[in-house]
Amino acid sequence: MSILVINCGSSSVKYELFDMSDNSVISKGVVERIGGTTSSIKHEVPKHDVYFKKRANAPDHLTAVELIRNVLSDAEFGVITNVAEVTGVGHRVVHGGEEFHESTLIDKTVLKCIQKCCKLAPLHNPPALEGITACMKIFENVPQVAVFDTAFHHSMPEHVYMYGIPYKFYKKFGIRKYGFHGTSHRYVSKKASEILKKPLEKINLITVHLGNGCSIAAVSGGVSIDTSMGFTPLEGLVMGTRSGDMDPAVVTFLMQEEAMSVDDMNTMLNKKSGLLGISGISNDMRDLLTEMHAGNPRAKLAYDTFVYRILKYIGAYAAALGSVDAVVFTAGIGENVPEIKNEIKQQLSSLLKGAEFMSIRTNEELLIAIDTFEVIKRGPQETDTNNGGINA
Ligand code: AMP
Repeated sequence: MSILVINCGSSSVKYELFDMSDNSVISKGVVERIGGTTSSIKHEVPKHDVYFKKRANAPDHLTAVELIRNVLSDAEFGVITNVAEVTGVGHRVVHGGEEFHESTLIDKTVLKCIQKCCKLAPLHNPPALEGITACMKIFENVPQVAVFDTAFHHSMPEHVYMYGIPYKFYKKFGIRKYGFHGTSHRYVSKKASEILKKPLEKINLITVHLGNGCSIAAVSGGVSIDTSMGFTPLEGLVMGTRSGDMDPAVVTFLMQEEAMSVDDMNTMLNKKSGLLGISGISNDMRDLLTEMHAGNPRAKLAYDTFVYRILKYIGAYAAALGSVDAVVFTAGIGENVPEIKNEIKQQLSSLLKGAEFMSIRTNEELLIAIDTFEVIKRGPQETDTNNGGINA
């Protein structure tokens, strides 16, 4: 029984094939620079010490998926030689809007709903759709499952996800907080309950995902009750290149004063802000730590702003939860920079007395594989969508 996990970006398709008998990785890789002149495929079979990167012809997502099928079924590179052995394909879909509160078997209706959510995630959902339609052709008759980044936060109460703007914009466009990184927050919550040896239903957690994108969630009894990302992944913590929270008037002020267009503003907020914007050096925490330890004040300012925002959110979520059993750090920075965890732990020692502070490696691909396997086992009649009342 093997499950193929597909994660599509605008110019890349990442894939990972899992053996569901022991959740181990059979092979994984990525097709990069799709649509460019220098497309390539990296493929790895960890258990057999196979690794290669080679140039490839991948003008679009369909040819990229075809390439993946071919390496998986090539006896020289893969472990399986018959692609018919793939039990199911799991797709990471960033935005499920208000439609989806759990992973879902993909059919025509689900495809239409994901299409409808493209308006909410114009950068992320269209490539995911391309990946899904490509896999439906290349892995014909293999069940396809969508696993949504937003689904875990579907449990947030109305007063948490509502913004303080006229209600009609919620009804008309679905403008509200959705939250992202749900698969990661869900995965580390489950792991934390195992480490704490307490049932997930009985604990309160604050999960802190610090990668290139950063978000934090308040998880009560295994259910997300609040999270820092919002209508888009821009809200909340200071990130690698995204601003996170700020006074929305800054947007209109700068657009007026600098004659910035909507595109200029989008680029500035998403690609030129955050750690990169404050430091003027890099979006990569490794570079910032090197510069900071060498005495660069802007690197220190970026680091301090980053840490302070996390601290503030943990305090807020401690208030929302009432009590906290553990604060869990994960993703590139959360797993590899213990000084951030230690600094925050020290500052919150009296507020969060008794709470554990831990780092847990996230594994979103594995959770997508497990969900896919479960949804396929359950069959189509059990899958459920919640068609909320908005027109987004
Ligand atoms: P992710 O999006 O989870 O892959 O995380 C990417 C970010 O994690 C990078 O931009 C780095 O800032 C950070 N990162 C990864 N490894 C390390 C490390 N060993 N030390 C410090 N930061 C790291």
